[in-house]
Amino acid sequence: MAGLYIHVPFCSQRCSYCDFYFVTTQKSHTGFVEALCREIEIQGQAFGRLEPIETIYFGGGTPSQLSLDELERIVQAANRHFDTSHVLETTFEINPEDATTSYLRGLQGLGIDRLSIGIQSFFDADLKFMNRVHDAGRAKSVLDDVRSAGFDKYSIDLIFGVPGQPKEYWSANLDIAQSFEVPHISTYNLTIEESTPLAKQVERGLVIPTDDDDSMNQFSFTMDYLKERGYEHYEISSFAKKGHRAVHNHKYWSHANYIGVGPSAHSFWWRGLPAKRWSNIRNLRRYEALLAQHVIPTDEEEKLSLDVLADEHVMLRLRTADGLSLKELEDRYGVDLFSSHISVLAELEAGGFIHPIRNQIVRLTDLGKTVCNSVTAKLLPKDAS
Ligand code: SF4
Repeated sequence: MAGLYIHVPFCSQRCSYCDFYFVTTQKSHTGFVEALCREIEIQGQAFGRLEPIETIYFGGGTPSQLSLDELERIVQAANRHFDTSHVLETTFEINPEDATTSYLRGLQGLGIDRLSIGIQSFFDADLKFMNRVHDAGRAKSVLDDVRSAGFDKYSIDLIFGVPGQPKEYWSANLDIAQSFEVPHISTYNLTIEESTPLAKQVERGLVIPTDDDDSMNQFSFTMDYLKERGYEHYEISSFAKKGHRAVHNHKYWSHANYIGVGPSAHSFWWRGLPAKRWSNIRNLRRYEALLAQHVIPTDEEEKLSLDVLADEHVMLRLRTADGLSLKELEDRYGVDLFSSHISVLAELEAGGFIHPIRNQIVRLTDLGKTVCNSVTAKLLPKDAS
């Protein structure tokens, strides 16, 4: 079954590190909602009958910039043009400052059953550095509000590797999350993306990026800390209590089909070769103008051969605790990695980067996770040893 991703491109201000597509100056959302519903209709006509939808994800930008009425129109459009009768999970990204009790209850009324909350840090100094809207007090109180509203499925984002952050802040961030018994935590290393305000601060020498070793130590600490407290580290950035894995994200990691709507959204569809991946244009005005003429606002489209898909599969699966199934790689992608990479696999196991292979599954150890990209590079099928 497929996923549906809905990109809402509005933010109230720009976080210093962010390179997602969003606008901060749009007062009215009417034109966007109109265009989005039309795109849902067109994509529903093309793909809606091929596969039912299992997960819906509202991302951004900041979906919580939309009113409940606007969201209701979008949900109705999705229900009308796709088969949503099998939906298992509907996730909604929300920023702490938007999560009022009435808004949270309204989201539940729309069938949204999982939240992804952009907390990032429980410290004012970090939040100010990142130019977030909320403060440390709201970062904590939103967790009480979410629980009082009856959400038991939610995730928080936390960022480590913040330049200049005192070392004890990161462990304190995890302590606070733990004290609220947060069921799912996504942790990200702060990366300096091109053309962001943070990149400019670095260029001018105003900010010194965190040393790679320090970031890696924080990541290692996070793995130990959360594992000891009952979280499953089920994907490089994702930690979940039992029963709280994100179902939608699993679609990205397993080459399941998904349709993305909204400016800059990506889609993937594989029904016979080549598979197709495409993205929408990153421009709200053009997006609205094209859809007013019933034109799909595609920016780039890529046709993916089985070789490319096999490489991607190795990259994606090694990031997960379920690991890379050599049998699946052979059956679905036609690659016998065990034969082509036997010496590499032996070296990686001897170096402690992967666990001994059991049931034809390759899994990274904690050491391997700290150098996931370089381990993956050694196991890409096209680099047969
Ligand atoms: S709220 Fe999210 S999408 Fe918007 S600027 Fe901040 S990080 Fe980027």
